[in-house]
Amino acid sequence: MLRTSTPILAPIREKVEAGERLSFDDGLLLYDPQVPLPELGELANLVRERKNGNAAYYNINTHLNPTNVCVYRCTFCAFRADLRDKKSYWMNDEQVLARGQEAVNNGCTEMHIVGGLHHQAKYEWYRKVISLLHEAYPELHLKAWTPVEIDWFERLTKQPLRWVMEDMIDAGLGSMPGGGAEIFHPEVRSQICEHKADSGRWFETHRTAHELGLRTNCTMLYGHVEKPFHRIDHLIRLRELQDETNGFQTFIPLAFHPDNTGLSHIKKPTGPEDLRTMAVSRLMLDNIPHIKAYWIMLGIGTAQIALSYGADDIDGTVRHELIYHDAGAETPEMMTVADLRRLIEEAGREPIERDTLYRRVERSEAGWEAGAAIGSN
Ligand code: SF4
Repeated sequence: MLRTSTPILAPIREKVEAGERLSFDDGLLLYDPQVPLPELGELANLVRERKNGNAAYYNINTHLNPTNVCVYRCTFCAFRADLRDKKSYWMNDEQVLARGQEAVNNGCTEMHIVGGLHHQAKYEWYRKVISLLHEAYPELHLKAWTPVEIDWFERLTKQPLRWVMEDMIDAGLGSMPGGGAEIFHPEVRSQICEHKADSGRWFETHRTAHELGLRTNCTMLYGHVEKPFHRIDHLIRLRELQDETNGFQTFIPLAFHPDNTGLSHIKKPTGPEDLRTMAVSRLMLDNIPHIKAYWIMLGIGTAQIALSYGADDIDGTVRHELIYHDAGAETPEMMTVADLRRLIEEAGREPIERDTLYRRVERSEAGWEAGAAIGSN
């Protein structure tokens, strides 16, 4: 039995206890300041423990951003560069392969690959990033490209979406990350990223990925110009696709970091705002198995508390994170397994290493292998 007692929350509490779906208006109410954060967290924790018990998942992973040169200029982005900027780079084959070797040497099970849309790079170069790594390190799961990049590849190849997806799968693509979602509502999208792939393209890409058997993640970038209305709209759109395809594994609420962006006048979300969004996400997305507290963005302390506000995953050890550090993230650029496990245990949860597809990772002297599927996946 929950200890919650605020009267305006009572109808929602009844629905959550009965396992019923929350409506758009319920979601808006959860953002009402009259709803106390601890009570909201308690409700989200009920769902979190129902789906994933006391487990808190992590993985051993690395990031690869093969270039930061980008034709777009999303106002929230501090990572992109023009070709002639001092900080611009474009990796060659040796640099890409060296990252793969480093990942394998450090026991990584996953490489997360996203980057800029370089106007001089041909589609074949993007494909080669995947095929080189897959051929050299087949045990490394490649979680790569957002719908923004896939949309760009369609333009480069003049081929339809399904062709591009199948070609990338043929090269070694294992799953897709959740980026490029930002906020789906056009009122917001037109202010922060009007040129890149719109919400229709984002959903079409993930639907196609799911139809082709790929699992994908999904995200929401919050804390900039959007209102609670836009966030709930965003979450419900994700929930609707999941009803159709059941292809999303994890939702990751991404806290906006303003430094070095075109929105640097905006203050980044506070800890309570982060926790409220985490809890609302868990409550609204009743059909997505996992909610991630991405420690790089939230900060370690908030990520720990988030494990009792709906989150059951903390992301990974991470190496070479650039995108949020360029935007002012003050977290370390990586963490050891021992540190990750300790922070999970300090939060009162049981650390479990997973691979990208949420299978328990078994490690031995000979290396690692994926065991059975875990959690509510
Ligand atoms: S968010 Fe992505 S598409 Fe937008 S400017 Fe940054 S790198 Fe380019």
